[in-house]
Amino acid sequence: MISVEEALALVFKNSFAITKTEKLPLAQCLNKILANSIEAPLNLPSYKLSSMDGYALNLHDAHEYSIVGEVKAGDSINPKLEIGECVRIFTGAVVPDSANAVVMQEKTTTDGNRIKIDTVIKSGDNIRPVGSQVKKGSFPLKKGQVLQASGMAFLQSLGIQQVEVFKAPKVTLVLTGNELISSHEKLTRGKIYESNSILLEAALHQQGIETQRISFTEDTLKGTIEVLKKAFLSSDVVLVSGGISVGDYDFVKQALEALKVKEVFYKVRQRPGKPLFFGKKENRFVFALPGNPASTLSCFYVYVLPLLARLRGSQSQGLIRVSMPLTHDFHSKEPRALFLKAHVENKTVTVLDGQHSSMLVSFARANALVYIPENGVSLKKGASVEVLLLPNIILT
Ligand code: AMP
Ligand code: MG
Repeated sequence: MISVEEALALVFKNSFAITKTEKLPLAQCLNKILANSIEAPLNLPSYKLSSMDGYALNLHDAHEYSIVGEVKAGDSINPKLEIGECVRIFTGAVVPDSANAVVMQEKTTTDGNRIKIDTVIKSGDNIRPVGSQVKKGSFPLKKGQVLQASGMAFLQSLGIQQVEVFKAPKVTLVLTGNELISSHEKLTRGKIYESNSILLEAALHQQGIETQRISFTEDTLKGTIEVLKKAFLSSDVVLVSGGISVGDYDFVKQALEALKVKEVFYKVRQRPGKPLFFGKKENRFVFALPGNPASTLSCFYVYVLPLLARLRGSQSQGLIRVSMPLTHDFHSKEPRALFLKAHVENKTVTVLDGQHSSMLVSFARANALVYIPENGVSLKKGASVEVLLLPNIILT
């Protein structure tokens, strides 16, 4: 059995970037990773623009200007201003070539066709110069950048319609367990509604990765081998749920051995998720995740996320880790490292009730995990703990 840190180091050491890329329309690029640095095809802004509602001035020493026209956003006119003249102008409108500053309207008083300025104005004030955000020919977004809403919009503002992104790894889910039924079926004695498929599918979707296939097998060696064999044919990553522990009906380890999967590690000194398996078959990866739903998700966030990131050319270590004070005392004599479902609020963190690995309810309420290293702790309220922020949460 190895430590959390050793296990993570092995994930990093054994992963590599998939170099296959694809060209996608911008609208399909949320959470995709740029395969090339992007060259700006134009200056942003492309024209010198007013950043205020006010008056564009051809500066002179006096404080009074005569108004000779108006330019609003979208207009293409370029009125010629003599020294001491101005035009009414609005935010986003093109500043006339002959104007060298804009004064905001709040700093002026108007009197018919004249304005008086009650502030000091310098050349260039309130003008967004051509290329001041981005220069044509520069590379504002580099290879490896994850495209979020802002990145997509930024590229759109450059008039870019398609981008080359790293192909997301192909991921197949394999769910094991005789007891599993779908929520469409009637619940009968001995069965449970299966939930790890939607859990993993949604967690992958959140990373911009669509699940390639979802397969199920009963707890038999033959069935498990068959379903895993198929999964390896068409995937970069196989995520198995359940059947990896030491029970008489846990066949995943045996099936992986039969399929000549090379074990990188099996069993981590952690709670939840001790019987976690990570292996490789040529350039394909497999994680066998313990079936208890909270173990499955915890292992996904801590170990699978960094692997997926690296496969897509990112060096991310996974969930963002921060240090935060506890809202309560916390004592534990647990020899294994703990990942505790927790809630972050007002820059403090509270460990939630219901930490058993079978309990999803606390995970459903959590926005973070608290990491407690091996061999227990005795912490007072206010003590700092390491917190892993769950993805895409809005902290309250
Ligand atoms: P296992 O890892 O196969 O020993 O399963 C551990 C526990 O997780 C058992 O109580 C299973 O019923 C439960 N479990 C396994 N797979 C799933 C699943 N896909 N959805 C919900 N619970 C599951
Ligand atoms: Mg099972």
